Amino acid sequence: MSEMSKAYEPESVEGAIFASWTEAGYFGQSIVPGETPFTIVIPPPNVTGSLHMGHALNNTIQDVVIRRSRMTGRPTRWVIGTDHAGIATQNKVEQKLAAEGLSRHDVGRERFIELCWEWRAEHGSTIISQLKAMGCSCDYADEHFTMDEPYQRAVKRVFVQLFNEGLIYRGKRIINWCPRCTTALSDIEVEHEELDGHLWHIRYPLKEAVGGRDHVIVATTRPETMLGDTCVAVHPEDERYRDLVGATVVLPLLGREIPIVADEYVDPAFGTGAVKVTPAHDPNDFEIGERHDCAKINVLAADASITAEGGPYEGLDRYDARKRVIADLETAGLLVKVDDHVHSVGHCYRCHTVVEPWLSDQWFVDMKPIAAPAIECVRDGRVSFHPERWANVYFHWMENIRDWCVSRQLWWGHQIPVYYCDACGEMTASETDVTACPKCGGAVRQDPDVLDTWFSSALWPFATLGWPDETPELEYFYPTSVLSTARDILFLWVARMIMQGLKFVGDIPYSDVIIHPTVFNAEGKRMSKSLGTGVDPLDLMEHYGADGMRFGLMLQTTGSQDIKFAEEKLASSRNFANKIWNASRFVLMNIGEGYVPGPPKAETVADRWILSRLSELAETVDLGLDPDIARAAGTDAFQFGEVARSLYDFFWNEFCDWYIELSKGRLAAGGETALTAQRNLVFVLDRALRLLHPMMPFITEAIWRNLPLSAEDAADSLMIAAWPTGLAGYRDEDAEASMRVLQELVTEVRAVRARYAVPPKAQVSVIVRAAGADAMLVESQRHYLHELAGVENLTIDAAAVKPPHAAVGVAGGAEIFVPLEGLVDIAAERERAKKDLDRAATDLDRLTKKLSNEGFLAKAAPDVIDKDRAKATELAAQVAKLTEQIADLAD
Ligand SMILES: [Zn+2]
Ligand SMILES: [Zn+2]
Repeated sequence: MSEMSKAYEPESVEGAIFASWTEAGYFGQSIVPGETPFTIVIPPPNVTGSLHMGHALNNTIQDVVIRRSRMTGRPTRWVIGTDHAGIATQNKVEQKLAAEGLSRHDVGRERFIELCWEWRAEHGSTIISQLKAMGCSCDYADEHFTMDEPYQRAVKRVFVQLFNEGLIYRGKRIINWCPRCTTALSDIEVEHEELDGHLWHIRYPLKEAVGGRDHVIVATTRPETMLGDTCVAVHPEDERYRDLVGATVVLPLLGREIPIVADEYVDPAFGTGAVKVTPAHDPNDFEIGERHDCAKINVLAADASITAEGGPYEGLDRYDARKRVIADLETAGLLVKVDDHVHSVGHCYRCHTVVEPWLSDQWFVDMKPIAAPAIECVRDGRVSFHPERWANVYFHWMENIRDWCVSRQLWWGHQIPVYYCDACGEMTASETDVTACPKCGGAVRQDPDVLDTWFSSALWPFATLGWPDETPELEYFYPTSVLSTARDILFLWVARMIMQGLKFVGDIPYSDVIIHPTVFNAEGKRMSKSLGTGVDPLDLMEHYGADGMRFGLMLQTTGSQDIKFAEEKLASSRNFANKIWNASRFVLMNIGEGYVPGPPKAETVADRWILSRLSELAETVDLGLDPDIARAAGTDAFQFGEVARSLYDFFWNEFCDWYIELSKGRLAAGGETALTAQRNLVFVLDRALRLLHPMMPFITEAIWRNLPLSAEDAADSLMIAAWPTGLAGYRDEDAEASMRVLQELVTEVRAVRARYAVPPKAQVSVIVRAAGADAMLVESQRHYLHELAGVENLTIDAAAVKPPHAAVGVAGGAEIFVPLEGLVDIAAERERAKKDLDRAATDLDRLTKKLSNEGFLAKAAPDVIDKDRAKATELAAQVAKLTEQIADLAD
């Protein structure tokens, strides 16, 4: 046997093992005709990204599913790549320029884009190397990027086709504008937050009094927008204003004359029932303005300063303008009142600046026709969500889908492939560069905007497989199998991939979508680097090893519950890794040089039991990781937490604590007995390592390479070794029942030994009251009781009665007595137990009184009360135990 080092040191093992996998070429997968492939496309991390806890969890999940699939022998491929991340990357490069006192306009578009590529070359592979450190088995040899030349062709093809079908259009609309990023944002790139604000009530004078009234009062949360007001609206059936419809208002501060219009949109019950209308700065006002043919006056520049339309306020920042407008209204006696008002304010999801609804020319995708088939494929089950409830969230959004604003006023990204001819006004969308107007031959200029980054990421599952070319990869690996992702990109990304996949390839992009839990910090707060509430996965890997981090995360992934990150799970996973290492070392050290590999043999109850447990474990792992197996069984797939706990319990409690212990005597016996024990240990360890491999790839590989396996079981690497199958035949209910009785007997006797501090070497006598099958079962376990619990004299008697001075216990259907005479000083023990009981009872009494005192409960801190309650529970248990002991020791 090759030597395994004494302790497991992840840092000295992981790098070498990863290198050996890379060298052997296990990560790539070519097409195997006739075999059904299993494919995952990674959610492409941003080139600006570095590994955070969300990535750590999501990529562990994907690697677990991928590694298991690879071992089942299916052609398995995990497609890797990065996203060019328009705004994020542009921000990075702008920051770099700003440090040199430059803006992007100083260097110009062409140079700026070059700088973005340079930035990507320098930093873009950080996250890829971090994924390797985690052990992720992606197809690194075929890395993709959403701005690669083939990918650019895919983006242009999609845009031009949508354009030609009339599903993409240009329009002047109110969009969400980030004045810091100076770009449009789609609706779902805006994060809404409830903020304390004010509602200003402003008097708008009428040009001529109507029926004795000379003004209307309007209310607004954004007074500076009044500079762009072009009408005042009231509800057509609002009696209070009926006479005023058609009258003219003189807009304060600017003196612009604007009409009062009647519009159904106005809620007569809100505020005064009269509203100011700013068509260029509010989507609802835009609609009102359209209906009444009102001017749309843009008073905000791209940086949210006031434009020339704002007259004397020109050049002021939006918030300075707000202050000045309020002050001037007050001076003019037109500010009626100010109420506190909580309202929802939109922020840019990239830089958290308050966004402005802003009127501008943008490109939109008409979503309704593309959404319909994408709703259908989830309804009819071609695409399943895990957990299932996410399907409803998906339906709700898809059924209410709005047109998608896809143009961004950035430089880094896919430039919109539309060319304008200023001479004749022709607009041409083209996959290839256009140099002259196809209509008049005049000069053309390309639209300067780029596409929303999500426009290109929506094509990820097929653009990475070569589309729009009809490549063999596309034909073979599409549709892919599983997509795993965070919930916050369900609409931004998941839904759009389904729509585009159906539209352009004619098939769903994947059949199963895992929406993984969100990882919060230990206090349940969002993890954030800038807030200092985050945990760095790289630090965790350093402390616990990659396997420790992966397994610790899997242990915490239960169903649809979000994760409050518990670092102690990673610590126990590292301990688990050490346990696996030490147990494996023990097995290997007990196999002599002349060992001949061979199949397992169920010779004893313990053999039958461990094989039965192994068989159940394999079933649990398959059901928890394979969506097809789960579907066939009618259960919900992707139970990562349950799989991890089952692996842990099996290996630690059943294999190490019981089976290895029970094998020690047989190993010492030598000859055929020892050989059977060795073969069984090797078999169970081998299968357990295979089942553990997807979650703990490094340590399992490091150990497995040392196992003396038969030619049939051997492989060059555990990563490509066969997934355990055919274990179902080992199921053995009888053996499991027997073992349960033995475990209870041993646990009881050990508890008695601990309670009375019986020295480890001292043997005890045990009397069991059992008859029939129970008696036979206990009889068959005589030697185990000797080995595991130091039982020297075992008496089995259907009519046994409790002897004096004996501890009492129950195991299965049998009652057991352990005589204490000779093991402990009965009188002294009895005295001690009585004294302890007195003390515990007094303490309990005092605490019970305290806890029923209303005054204490009202005043004490909750954690103090909790501590006292826990203490009371503990004391009650002590009292019960001591009472039992006194009975045991009675004459
Ligand atoms: Zn922004
Ligand atoms: Zn032209």
